[in-house]
Amino acid sequence: MIPGARLIILGRQGAGKGTQCVRLSRHYVVPHISTGDMLRAAAREGTDLGTAAKKIMDAGGLVGDDIMIGLVDERLEKADASTRGYILDGFPRTVTQAEALDGLTARKPIHVVIDLDVPREIVLERISSRRVCRDCGTNYRTSGDDPSPWICDVCGGDVQQRADDTPDAVNRRLDLYETQTAPLIEYFSSRGALAVINGVGHPDHVFKRLTDAVEARR
Ligand code: AMP
Repeated sequence: MIPGARLIILGRQGAGKGTQCVRLSRHYVVPHISTGDMLRAAAREGTDLGTAAKKIMDAGGLVGDDIMIGLVDERLEKADASTRGYILDGFPRTVTQAEALDGLTARKPIHVVIDLDVPREIVLERISSRRVCRDCGTNYRTSGDDPSPWICDVCGGDVQQRADDTPDAVNRRLDLYETQTAPLIEYFSSRGALAVINGVGHPDHVFKRLTDAVEARR
């Protein structure tokens, strides 16, 4: 079996991170830990955290650092992640989260932080046609005349537009990315942990670039 991996995938929302992370998690046989998926699951379950997070998510804001750090801490302790590793998608999103993650991963450091680089104009176009399975998180692209919701090929769940994929919320998220998350590129680069990967092109080619970058560092 391929040895596990501990990876962080950074990048603008809509850069294709979700789809590539699912592929990477199958390839390395490690869990795909998406903090957005965790928050959406909590929102569906109607927990206090989920209800509070949903309001923030729908407006395109960021959930508080303490809450996010607590969630990730708990998740990384689970047996699958602590033995084989993980693909972290959507975390860290602020320098405070990155500093906390340094502490959480001190014993088993991250192999590589990947910045999946796709320009803002391209992600805006991709997000407007994005549809997501609300049960398993599989991403699809709508041609514009698909039924709503449609049925997920993978799990049979409802495929819908995300509530936070409206133009206002998307622009707010992209602005927050530039101010809060983009500084992480410098943060990880100065530690020699960063690989910048061009996220434009056929998904198979992007996947190959990603696995090449992991193999070079693992
Ligand atoms: P995503 O699925 O990664 O695009 O995340 C969807 C939304 O969940 C984000 O727009 C934020 O509102 C929230 N979220 C996810 N991860 C984080 C995080 N690490 N810090 C703060 N908010 C987050």
